[in-house]
Amino acid sequence: MSVVEPGFSGSAQTDRRRFLTTAGALLVGGAAAASRTFAHPSGALTETAAAGARAMLATPIVDTHQHLWNLETQKLPWLDGAPEVLKKTYWLNEYAAATEGLNIKSAVYMEVDIAPDQQISEADTLLEICRKGDAPTIAAVISGRPNSEEFARYIHRYAKAKPIKGVRQVLHPPDCPRGLCLEKQFVRSMNLLGEIGMSFDLCMRPEDLSDAVTLVRQCPGTRFVLDHCGNADPGSFLSESVRKEAPKHDTEAWKANILQLAEQSNVICKISGVIASAPTGVPFTDSLAPVINHCLDSFGPDRVIFGGDWPVCLLGAPFREWVSTLLTIISNRPQAEQEKLLHKNAEKFYSLLTQ
Ligand SMILES: [Zn+2]
Repeated sequence: MSVVEPGFSGSAQTDRRRFLTTAGALLVGGAAAASRTFAHPSGALTETAAAGARAMLATPIVDTHQHLWNLETQKLPWLDGAPEVLKKTYWLNEYAAATEGLNIKSAVYMEVDIAPDQQISEADTLLEICRKGDAPTIAAVISGRPNSEEFARYIHRYAKAKPIKGVRQVLHPPDCPRGLCLEKQFVRSMNLLGEIGMSFDLCMRPEDLSDAVTLVRQCPGTRFVLDHCGNADPGSFLSESVRKEAPKHDTEAWKANILQLAEQSNVICKISGVIASAPTGVPFTDSLAPVINHCLDSFGPDRVIFGGDWPVCLLGAPFREWVSTLLTIISNRPQAEQEKLLHKNAEKFYSLLTQ
């Protein structure tokens, strides 16, 4: 299955809005602002933001969703139609600069929907980085095509490689058929991942989350990570008087599906991605809180992990602003719960301290 979004390939004009609602959803889901500046929408640094900034330096972070791509050697077909900010190399030096001053303890690489013929070289490169040990990246979730009969052979190649923790295939490009994750071969591959101790990242359209519920019930022996708060569109949660556009999905259905996923003990939720699609003109803390709080309350303090989603987060804000926004939103929760979200749960889920 091609992951290229045909409408964007070679297009002279990049329609950012369209990209984000279609091809851009490959990595981030939803729609981001057209010409956002990186300043806090409300202007001055508020007291809570200042408190968030102080907390930002104090709390160690495990970033479970770090993208890296080198455009000199790697092909990412979806970038053809992407906003310019994403069309450059983002590698370890750039990550270090973007996270400078943050207390990043370690990072888990997240696959970047690379051209399928480069999946093995992507995984091998990451394995090398993880084993070298001189970067924060100590583990990786690699690309894969679970609906292919070749998947078993592919993944067995990494079955004994401890830094390789799981697999992801983004399931919401427009050409990704609905129900793909419920096909027999796909489910077989999910069970195989469970057998070899790997997880699968669910990154899908919010309206397809009911498929995720069916899938995770069918594979109780496999651990799943729900990416990006189930790809909720934060703008859809704003009241009608504040909202500039019609909701992009049914927010009540999203809430119900999140609750159903949270009922399954083999699923955890990654708090990530949402800032890339935050609406303009509303403080991030206001627009993101309903989504983040519903996920945190549904999954509870032990089954939520933090993801930076850099550099895709740049569609909404720099990495550190995502962190400070999140810290502000969770600032009224117990310190122990904040620490679980920011690093302890991830260390446990991925066995980062004992691998
Ligand atoms: Zn991402």
